[in-house]
Amino acid sequence: MKVLVPVKRVIDYNVRPRVKPDQTGVDLANVKMAMNPFCEIAIEEAVRLKEKGIATEIVVVSIGPAQAQETIRIGLAMGGDRGILVQTDARAEPLSVAKIIRAIAEEEKPGLIITGKQAIDDDNNQTGQMTAALLGWPQGTFASAVVKDGDKLMVTREVDGGLQTVELSTPAVVTTDLRLNEPRFASLPNIMKAKKKEIAIKSPADYGVDITPRLSVVKVTEPKKREAGEKVADVDTLISKLKSAGAI
Ligand code: AMP
Repeated sequence: MKVLVPVKRVIDYNVRPRVKPDQTGVDLANVKMAMNPFCEIAIEEAVRLKEKGIATEIVVVSIGPAQAQETIRIGLAMGGDRGILVQTDARAEPLSVAKIIRAIAEEEKPGLIITGKQAIDDDNNQTGQMTAALLGWPQGTFASAVVKDGDKLMVTREVDGGLQTVELSTPAVVTTDLRLNEPRFASLPNIMKAKKKEIAIKSPADYGVDITPRLSVVKVTEPKKREAGEKVADVDTLISKLKSAGAI
């Protein structure tokens, strides 16, 4: 079974984002970028499926600027077999990304697409679901376990108050939650080996997808500054302070 893993290049999760002075978005100039953490989990899951003999080939896909090649290379160093970069400097919204992934899936015919549950930059949590809908494939979102059972996939999902297991026929789309696995580090020898792996460079037009944004961002603002905390002498003082602040 071929596995397709879409990975997004996002602002590194350790970096504190700065809003642009004109409030049109987050300032990405000279900011450290990295693979979206949920996409690392998606790659790791695909590699584990390959190690178990279930996945035969892992194709790592990214839609983004030329630098997204570096993100694909990390995926290849973790165990991906080849990459596809759909190169664009424009902001690709989830629907456009999903349409491109659909077109790639129609060409590549994977048995499984594993996406992150969300990209930590825009927090959309839409691409996996939209991809499944466009392809008419079953989906298992927020996966904390993926087990192959004959020709079915058993996907355990983290839901309010517990775990739900769904049975999917393949081809299917799975989106990864945080506890699905702990991604491996790409070792230096594997990073070197990944340099030789093939990355095809494409454009959205190659897949017949117009990525003109349909949404406009009205404004991006910094979160409200948190006030400094205060140490109190004992519980009684804490309670009277909370009461006078109207918190209890
Ligand atoms: P989102 O719906 O934007 O929160 O993203 C969810 C998941 O969709 C990500 O973790 C990726 O697996 C995939 N995805 C979103 N945007 C892109 C992109 N530009 N290129 C490749 N994969 C993407």
